[in-house]
Amino acid sequence: MKQIPHLIAAKPVPGATATPVFNPATGEQSAQVASGGAGEIAAAMAAAGSAFPAWAATAPSKRAKVMYEMRRLLEARKDEIASAISAEHGKTHTDALGEVARGQEVVEYACGIPQLLKGSYSRNVSGGVDCYDERQPLGVVAGITPFNFPAMVPLWMMPMALACGNAFILKPSERDPSAPNLLHDLWREAGLPDGVLNVVHGAKEAVDAILDHPGIAAVSFVGSTPIAQYVYSRGAANGKRVQALGGAKNHLVVMPDADLDQAADALMGAGYGSAGERCMAVSVAVPVGEKTADALVAKLKPRVQALKIGPATDASAEMGPLVTRAHRDKVSSYIDAGAAEGAELVVDGRGLKLQGYEKGFWLGGTLLDRVTPTMSVYRDEIFGPVLSVVRAKDYEDAVSLINANPFANGTALFTRDGDAARDFAGRIQVGMVGINVPIPVPVGFHSFGGWKSSIFGSHGVYGPEGVHFYTRLKTVTSRWPTGIRSGAQFHFTER
Ligand code: NAD
Repeated sequence: MKQIPHLIAAKPVPGATATPVFNPATGEQSAQVASGGAGEIAAAMAAAGSAFPAWAATAPSKRAKVMYEMRRLLEARKDEIASAISAEHGKTHTDALGEVARGQEVVEYACGIPQLLKGSYSRNVSGGVDCYDERQPLGVVAGITPFNFPAMVPLWMMPMALACGNAFILKPSERDPSAPNLLHDLWREAGLPDGVLNVVHGAKEAVDAILDHPGIAAVSFVGSTPIAQYVYSRGAANGKRVQALGGAKNHLVVMPDADLDQAADALMGAGYGSAGERCMAVSVAVPVGEKTADALVAKLKPRVQALKIGPATDASAEMGPLVTRAHRDKVSSYIDAGAAEGAELVVDGRGLKLQGYEKGFWLGGTLLDRVTPTMSVYRDEIFGPVLSVVRAKDYEDAVSLINANPFANGTALFTRDGDAARDFAGRIQVGMVGINVPIPVPVGFHSFGGWKSSIFGSHGVYGPEGVHFYTRLKTVTSRWPTGIRSGAQFHFTER
């Protein structure tokens, strides 16, 4: 059985205990991953703490060289990383390649770190007094990541934290740990000094050890809302800087004037791509008006029935299995509940079996119409290939529905009406908005982050927000002895 170790001070460290890792397509165990706690976090902290001063003192232009090399390595090894992702997550190979490419964008942005860290200087702010500011690294920082993007989400964090001069401890998801270990090896190959990056595997015990360790200055978390809230509260109570990104329920509004084929295609990709296991997946379609709703559902139904579902090794597959058996069963139980609560089951994905993959964690694409806001299928984040149609009577009804939802990660409006689009972008209470773009994940030189219970803490991830999160501002005001002598001053003076 393949053993996946921790990586501390650039060395593999076997786990005292281990967790099984599965191939979701076959349903069989493929590996065992080490599971750490306070001891492993302390060891990673010791390695990162000793590596930090030299790394922080390395010129930003030299740190940028590591970023350039990492960018090259990600390009050269993307197929290998994508295969590692698919084997443990289940997503298709093309989708896994897309994940690597989105992570690579952040590395590209981090290549510009000398420019991004450039401070400002003001000469003669007062008689003979000059003032400048700079952004300094925080020290040892940690990242805790979810199963659904085992390469992209660590790459939202690591390039920014490392380029800014911090040392990093990654605690990836225990469900798909191979890709994070591969990334660690690529960073070393790119020239990152030993100990600057460490990977500790595990679950709650490892997370709690990170949150309680006094040496860790900041924590970036991406995962479900209840754990995000927990991580934020416990980390902040221990004096750490914390950004904790949570779950989502993303709506796509279809206006009567929209191109319905374009909207239906967009809903297919955004609702069922990666089996709906994306924090920016669209799980609620909101057609405006009964006529739009009837026409949209008529277009969606045959598309959902025709979804090609298969293992990542099948190049024609559009969607793979769910990550674990327990998760598949949970998603399936939401379909039971939706039907029992009165939703119209237009396409039922339950009970899907694939020849040769009978033990895999499969679930077919599911479409529910006439869902209402009180049903559990609407209220909860399902994180599976289930699209709910909530019919809005008019545009205002659609806006109110979205603004009343506690989640606020992403949303989209499909329309040809510029006025409606402008109004929507301005008034909607959601962090990332698409206009005729179903999954508005910002590019690497902007920043990612939702609002309300989709984020706890004040900074989004990567882009300019990443630089701010992983550095702190220092402002130096100086006067040289040859300057004007004014005697002791006991009050603020006008400049
Ligand atoms: P999760 O919250 O179960 O796990 C996330 C991380 O927290 C993992 O590393 C896990 O080991 C750890 N963890 C789990 N339970 C814990 C506990 N009780 N105490 C401490 N740590 C714990 O999330 P997941 O199932 O891996 O990922 C899916 C979730 O992540 C979805 O809710 C999805 O919306 C969200 N997500 C959000 C974003 C975003 O940017 N907002 C991006 C990707 C995923």
